[in-house]
Amino acid sequence: MRQQTFLACHDDVGHMDAKKTLYKLQQRYWWPKMRKYCKTYVRSCHKCQIVNRRTANAYGFLQLLPIPTTPWEIVSSDHVICLPLTKAGNTNMFVQIDHATRYVIATPSASLATSTVTDALYRNIILRYGPPSMYI
Ligand SMILES: [Zn+2]
Repeated sequence: MRQQTFLACHDDVGHMDAKKTLYKLQQRYWWPKMRKYCKTYVRSCHKCQIVNRRTANAYGFLQLLPIPTTPWEIVSSDHVICLPLTKAGNTNMFVQIDHATRYVIATPSASLATSTVTDALYRNIILRYGPPSMYI
């Protein structure tokens, strides 16, 4: 019975979001935990997932990064993954870039674990140049 009700109040009327579907349901029906059931139904609706309707708040505007005044003040990092396997067993590269000089430090790694990132940050940046004020 509930399945047919949802078909009528969600699927047949254009796959509205959970709030609107609940409003539509509440005009005619009531059952315990109706809100929770409605949310679960809409979240698990295959068509709604394919359409990929945005349900979160809008993103904010992109912000400009500050211009660094000294080397190693602002450092950004990223992983380059799925590289050919090296003799040492590494398939990834952890790359750190200084924004002031564009100097690059590339560290081969076998995993993408947090310890790889923290170890590279500590050994390559903090021990050599001190802690950056911004690490992206
Ligand atoms: Zn749907």
